[in-house]
Amino acid sequence: MDRKRILVTGGAGFIGSHLCEKLLDQGHDVLCVDSYFTGTRQNIAHLFDNGRFEVIRHDITKELFVETDEIYNLACPASPVHYQYNPIKTIKTSVMGAIHMLGLAKRVKAKILQASTSEVYGDPQVNPQPEAYWGNVNPIGPRSCYDEGKRCAETLFFDYHRQNRVRIKVVRIFNTYGPRMQIDDGRVVSNFITQALNNRDITIYGDGTQTRSFQYIDDLIEGMTGFMNTPDQLTGPINLGNEKEFTIMELATMVLELTNSKSKIVYKPLPENDPLQRRPDTSLASELLGWKASVGLKEGLLKTISYFDALLRA
Ligand code: NAD
Ligand code: UDP
Repeated sequence: MDRKRILVTGGAGFIGSHLCEKLLDQGHDVLCVDSYFTGTRQNIAHLFDNGRFEVIRHDITKELFVETDEIYNLACPASPVHYQYNPIKTIKTSVMGAIHMLGLAKRVKAKILQASTSEVYGDPQVNPQPEAYWGNVNPIGPRSCYDEGKRCAETLFFDYHRQNRVRIKVVRIFNTYGPRMQIDDGRVVSNFITQALNNRDITIYGDGTQTRSFQYIDDLIEGMTGFMNTPDQLTGPINLGNEKEFTIMELATMVLELTNSKSKIVYKPLPENDPLQRRPDTSLASELLGWKASVGLKEGLLKTISYFDALLRA
């Protein structure tokens, strides 16, 4: 096997911890870099005994000098509650973080993958969203620090590629869920599951007719690592998400059923600029990688519910 030294920024977060685990399983050396802003040491504690795993506490808004063959750039808070907590810091992480990681990739000739997002499409006027769609994003709203930060990071990736021939891979990740999401994350899946398990009210924002497509973590990790290993001319962006679309009301009903919860549904105001629909067109990922998200919502929710159930009982 081709053993590589791989840097994962945001490696102690939800997605990052699963990615580190997968890369170690594949036999690589993994360097996890994280500021622990939203990630935790517990997420990666089970990897500490592995001699090929290293961790550095570092904030990517500062430069980093390490040797590496590949970089997965995931560092950035992802939940609206967390990224709006300090919006200026969110932009700095996306933009300055991208500049520092691209600068590193350029110096050490590493290949670099950017964890971009379906938020680059904003509140889309096209459904499903193909990669060619340029999006409908408010540049000055409460979500802009994240959406525009991620859009600017994509621009930087393509400029480093054109100007400095840095080998880039850009993936646009749609709503992903699974074990190791933070319990107080504020995102819909973790909120509904913890509310249902505690028999507290299920909080639907708006009337619950807005839609999302929910991808289980294992599908995402397979797509991301698969895309990193494609030939250099394939830069993306590519969408990675589950094509099945659900209303938030359907999600609430499913969580209630699967947890046998006594919780009631209550309605809260819809946050400003909350996208009304979101569904990926993943034909490009299918064509290039033979990849399609395969874990159904019920199956993925059951695994996530048992994770949160164990956590709440501990
Ligand atoms: P997360 O909050 O669990 O993980 C983010 C990690 O980045 C955390 O460990 C955090 O401590 C770290 N971090 C934040 N700012 C940092 C900084 N300045 N320097 C170093 N580390 C920093 O979120 P996640 O769901 O695992 O998301 C990971 C990546 O995937 C993010 O870039 C996010 O934008 C992207 N993404 C996630 C989703 C999703 O549904 N989960 C969807 C689209 C895109
Ligand atoms: N949402 C909800 N109740 C909650 C949390 C979120 O109804 O307790 C809604 C939110 O308004 C949005 C959708 O669920 O329409 C997905 O929200 P999330 O924060 O998970 O991610 P987003 O896709 O908005 O970034």
